[in-house]
Amino acid sequence: MDTKRPSRSGKGRGNNSFNRNKKSGGGGRDRRGSGGGRSNHNYIPLPAEMMVHEGVPLKKVEYKADTKFADWKLNPKLKSAIKAAGWVYPTEIQEKSFEHINALKDVMGIATTGTGKTGAFLIPLVDALLASEQPFQTLVLAPTRELALQIEEEFRALTIGMKFNAITLIGGRNINTDIVNLRKRSYHLVVATPGRLKDLYQQGKIDLQEASVLVLDEFDRMLDMGFQKDVMYLADKIGERDQTLLFSATLDKSQQKLIDHFLTDPVTVAVSSGEASAEHINQTVRFVAPDDKFDVLIELLQDAEMKRVLVFAETKHRVKKITKKLNQAGISADEIHGNKSQNYRQKALGAFKSGKLKALCATDVAARGLDIDDITHVINFEAPTDYDTYIHRVGRTGRAGKGGEAITLYDQQ
Ligand code: AMP
Repeated sequence: MDTKRPSRSGKGRGNNSFNRNKKSGGGGRDRRGSGGGRSNHNYIPLPAEMMVHEGVPLKKVEYKADTKFADWKLNPKLKSAIKAAGWVYPTEIQEKSFEHINALKDVMGIATTGTGKTGAFLIPLVDALLASEQPFQTLVLAPTRELALQIEEEFRALTIGMKFNAITLIGGRNINTDIVNLRKRSYHLVVATPGRLKDLYQQGKIDLQEASVLVLDEFDRMLDMGFQKDVMYLADKIGERDQTLLFSATLDKSQQKLIDHFLTDPVTVAVSSGEASAEHINQTVRFVAPDDKFDVLIELLQDAEMKRVLVFAETKHRVKKITKKLNQAGISADEIHGNKSQNYRQKALGAFKSGKLKALCATDVAARGLDIDDITHVINFEAPTDYDTYIHRVGRTGRAGKGGEAITLYDQQ
């Protein structure tokens, strides 16, 4: 690898210059475009008693960093950018993983969204880019379009005033624009969802061999969302690399074999238990006759306490219908699911985040990885069919240790 970073023997290709992609044309579709619909035919809801729980305040484990970023040995330009972002103390994952990432070790980071895991890999990366005479490329695979965009946004904040290039390759946007952008210049950071990246690779529009560092973000969710094969395929095409970093909120035995496949002699940095939890969230179930569900939902949403509500349904079709019904009842609502373009989804998300919308209706796939503050309630229009999905949904509220409410409308037999 042509950088000043130490390179482990046997890894890395050296001579890793940025090659322009010269080919053009082509269309293609991101596999992730389709939402999380299940046919009602096979629908077996989770038992109601699993979704009832009185929230208990989380024991706040205030992490007290030993150091401030100001004391870290970082390039002054990066220090300024960190300061401009308003970050003073590193988070736990940032403090504990820095030296390992900096030393080019493979790292397995057990950390959820909200722990600063993005900064944990971006800070050493930007520092290394500033120190290196030759550019190198980091490829980040993320499960959702929204998460991918957040990563790019954070990279831009941490490289403000520096001449580094980043690109996000995600479904729902015109692939020809990606192709043109890939041809235009070389990139220090490529953030991608697996479906779109595979598409671009198979069309010969991106040289995956350029990447010398691979980051697998929210690995557990990528597996949940059925990306295992695509991730294996892409990692295989990247081939030899200097470093692989893998972040996952949860860790179970079934993932271990895969993790072993991706990481070489990794250091594990755990800042959470690795178990999914919704302990701090009040969870209730309402038994409702299927025909009354829309009325009950509207009634719930008319409560002034319901300020920012994420409504989940099992199918894109149902999400659409709920959104329509809510708007007809005078409740501001929009929808995100795989049938909506990336632009549309971004707009709806923006309106929801800014408080213009009271309700955002979503399928599981569209809502994965969303980090929206202050969601007061999560409503499941139908019970999900598995507990992991349930926990992921419920976890959209009660962010940053705050309390939250989850209500599941259960079909009354
Ligand atoms: P993440 O877990 O990477 O999604 O980050 C969660 C949020 O914390 C993001 O909004 C980051 O901008 C923010 N953040 C990350 N690191 C720090 C830090 N050291 N100090 C303050 N905020 C941070």
